[in-house]
Amino acid sequence: MEIYQGRAVYQGIAIGTVFFYEKGQQAIRAEKTGNPKREWERYEEAKRVAAGELEELYQKALLEVGEQEAQIFAVHEVMLRDEAFDESVKQLIEQAMASAEYAVSVTGGQFVKLFEAMDDEYLRARGADVKDVSDRLLEILSGTRRSIEMGDEPVIVVAKDLTPSETVQMDKKKLLGFVTELGSSTSHTAILARTMNIPALTGIAADASWDGKMAVLDGNTGTLYLEPEESVLLTYRELKRQELQRREQMLSLKGKENVTKTGQRIELYANIAGIGDLPDVLENDAGGIGLFRSEFLYLGREDYPTEEEQFQVYKQALETMAGKKVIIRTLDIGADKKVDYFQMEPEENPALGYRAIRICLERTEVFQTQLRALFRASAFGKLAIMYPMITSVEEVRKIKELSALVQSQLTKEGIATGDVEEGIMIETPAAAIISDLLAKEVDFFSIGTNDLTQYTLAVDRQNPKLEAYYNPHHEAVLRLIGMVVENAHKEGIWAGICGELGADTTLTKTFLEMGVDELSVSPAAILPIREIVRNTE
Ligand code: PEP
Ligand code: MG
Repeated sequence: MEIYQGRAVYQGIAIGTVFFYEKGQQAIRAEKTGNPKREWERYEEAKRVAAGELEELYQKALLEVGEQEAQIFAVHEVMLRDEAFDESVKQLIEQAMASAEYAVSVTGGQFVKLFEAMDDEYLRARGADVKDVSDRLLEILSGTRRSIEMGDEPVIVVAKDLTPSETVQMDKKKLLGFVTELGSSTSHTAILARTMNIPALTGIAADASWDGKMAVLDGNTGTLYLEPEESVLLTYRELKRQELQRREQMLSLKGKENVTKTGQRIELYANIAGIGDLPDVLENDAGGIGLFRSEFLYLGREDYPTEEEQFQVYKQALETMAGKKVIIRTLDIGADKKVDYFQMEPEENPALGYRAIRICLERTEVFQTQLRALFRASAFGKLAIMYPMITSVEEVRKIKELSALVQSQLTKEGIATGDVEEGIMIETPAAAIISDLLAKEVDFFSIGTNDLTQYTLAVDRQNPKLEAYYNPHHEAVLRLIGMVVENAHKEGIWAGICGELGADTTLTKTFLEMGVDELSVSPAAILPIREIVRNTE
């Protein structure tokens, strides 16, 4: 038996045979050819084929893992159209008489290096996406396609690295787990593993000799056992049995109320990034949607989504939820969420900069388009609108003026709207401290603990070096949450939590004691919290 320690990316246990996945090596044709025109045409044709494949992958991912994760293939399509990439390929083909393969291979390598040298962790990880796109072009040009034939039995896939397209091409039913050497926990492959609910580890170097060997993957401790001893196998078979039993037990909580033994009720809603996440919301029996991050509609595209496009998406969410509450947060871009077509100036401190409601209150045409789409959709279900990054009463009053204006315009146009609750996110210390005043202005509060922790503790939530300082259990954060809930109740409005802390089951009891009315969490976290609530005295 050999034991390897890696980093756990997603929890769970997998027991099975290793499938060692090795990427096909593309044969690069002679570096030089005498026919630049022909090579350029081959390159353009390869791009067309690649665009078609990416569209297919996007549709497959949309169905299997949801809109947010499918976006990566839309991003690849955008990369495929990159002018700087084209320019470099063209130069190599025309000036160095290079073959299309050679030009793509050299350009791809240079672009990957550029990304990998970036300071920002997220952008560094995008190097893998650039490589994915240029490998796709090389495969098309050289006629060597990667295939992921995994055989009939389910396997633990082990590889040096997996790109998002490789991950999504694998047959989900045959996947027990992933082990890779490379890849961070923010890589899209890691995000896909989480969404597919498959245990995954990174940081483990393997080779082809592992192929076909028995292994146990422990996604809770980050350990991999290759050719495990009988005693280890027995222990893990028992743990796996308990894991499956637990999931069954969780599913038996579907349809049950979120009520403590003493009769206190709490709403358990779901956080989503788009309508692709709706099947998970229903599967996990969410009471509603507590945070629809609408900015994902604006990301990964080249122009603003139109009023009609947005209306269709919001309407679909409301209709799918069939009368259950759907809280849609208005556009929250800026900070880590950048959208090129907004053409925003670079900032020294983007998290403290021009973001979310600050942009909406300046670019009122963008904000009003979204509000029109939202109020139009409100006729099709139970909509609530939530505004992000609030710091003052004045901001809320300006929002209310714009919202009233949009509603009166729609009425004049004869367009029906429903009753809409309007609330704000409490995610800055300023908003928490003046929550007594803000509570007089709105219908509800939803506490964004991700940003509230960042701003209260002065810790950049994006900076992995500061992880030890980013402590949402800090007394300062917990006191602010308690204060916000108390101030909400004094004015007769409800208060929920939609940041990640809402899913922290070590705090469920504390939140109940504070009187929190709603927790909005990722769909998979709903039933485990329901269980805790129901066992609370
Ligand atoms: C938050 O800040 O807690 C929140 C829910 O919003 P986001 O994570 O999208 O900033
Ligand atoms: Mg936030």
